[in-house]
Amino acid sequence: MKISKKDALMWFEFFASLPYDQQLLNRQEEIVTDVLSQIEDAQERKIRELYSGLEEVYDIGGRSFFVGDPEKISDGCRACLTESGLNAVRKTNRCNLRCPFCYNYGELDEQPPIGEGYWEIGGSYFRAGDIPSLIRIQGAPKAVAYVYLEPFMEIEKYYGIIKVFSEHGVHQHMYTNGTLADRDNLKRLADAGLNELRFNLGATDCSDKVIENIALAKQYIPKVGIETPMTREFYKGFLEKQEAILSAGADFMNLAELHLNENNLQNYLGESMYMYRRGYLSPVFSHILTLELMKRCVREGWDMAVHDCCNRTKFMRGLNLKAHEGGCFGSGEYAMEFDTVPYEAFLAALKDPDLIFTEEEPLPPGYGVGEIFF
Ligand code: SF4
Repeated sequence: MKISKKDALMWFEFFASLPYDQQLLNRQEEIVTDVLSQIEDAQERKIRELYSGLEEVYDIGGRSFFVGDPEKISDGCRACLTESGLNAVRKTNRCNLRCPFCYNYGELDEQPPIGEGYWEIGGSYFRAGDIPSLIRIQGAPKAVAYVYLEPFMEIEKYYGIIKVFSEHGVHQHMYTNGTLADRDNLKRLADAGLNELRFNLGATDCSDKVIENIALAKQYIPKVGIETPMTREFYKGFLEKQEAILSAGADFMNLAELHLNENNLQNYLGESMYMYRRGYLSPVFSHILTLELMKRCVREGWDMAVHDCCNRTKFMRGLNLKAHEGGCFGSGEYAMEFDTVPYEAFLAALKDPDLIFTEEEPLPPGYGVGEIFF
C-alpha cells in the first residue's frame, strides 16, 4: 500500500513508544515495510534528479558511479566491487580519535584484540609466515585491505605482512585518519609494497596536518585517496579548504554514505533518515551532499576521481562478494545493522516537508489504529 505520510507518522510514533523488543503483528509489519518503502522512494527520487544534472558519469561494472578522471579511480575499489571482493585484514583494535560518525563510537576502548603476532583474515587467525600457505591453498585474492581502527597506532607491525602479500602480487590498501603519518612511516609502507593509502579526512575536520600528510604520502605511495563518510561537517570543512585539499594531489575521493548503527545513531537523531533496501540506515543529507561535491568536481574539472560510495554501492558489493563465493541467486552480505527497525529514527523524515511521498492512499479497512488484530 502507498501509505500516506500522516498515517505513517501516526503509526511510527506508536511503534516508537513500544518496548524495544515488542513483536509486531503481521499487518503492523506490513505497515512498517510500506513506510520504509515510501521514505526510500522519496529519497531515491531526489538522488535521481541530482544524477540527471551530472554529465560524464562513469560506472564500475554497473555497481557504482564516479566522476572525474577514470585513470585515478582506486584499484582497490575495482577489486572490491568487481573481483574477489573486500578481503579484510584486521590487526589494530585502538584509535587515537573519537569521531561521532565512527561505527564503534562509545565502545572504541572495547574492541576485541587480535593478539600480538596475529592477523585476523576471514575469521581465522594467522601469523605473517602463514600467508604463503594460505595463498597456496585458497589462491591469492585480487586485493586485501587493512580495515580495523587506526593502523598507525602500531604501524611498525604492518611492514612485514605487507611485504609478504606484495611478493604474491596482491593489491593492498590501508585506511587511516592520517594524524600519525610521517615521512619515515609512509616511506617504509611504500618500500614494503603498500599500493594505496586512504585518508579519512573527515575524522579531523580536514586538519591542515592531515592535508599535508596526504601530500607527503603522494611522494611515496602509488595511489593516495581520501575516504570519509559524508557529513555536514566534512562538506563544510572541504569547501573551506578546497584549494589546499585538491593541491595535496590525492588521486581519488571516496565519499561514503554515512550509515548508522546502535553506536553512532544517537549522534544524528533528529536528522531525516531513510533505509536503503531494508539495510543501512542513513541521514538523507549524506548522499545529497556527495552529489553536490560530484557536481563541483565536474564543473570545476578537478584532477581526481570522485566516487559515490553510497548504500547502493555497498549493496552491490555484497552481491559481488556472494557471487564470487558461489552464493545462491540474490544472496548478498548487505543487511540491517539493528536487531529491530529503529522507529524513532524515522520520525524526523516523516515530519520533513522536503521529503515528499508522491503517491498516497488511505489505509485499507483493518489497518487503522485499533483495527489490527493479526
Ligand atoms: S578515525 Fe576511524 S576508527 Fe578512529 S574514531 Fe574516527 S572513524 Fe573511528
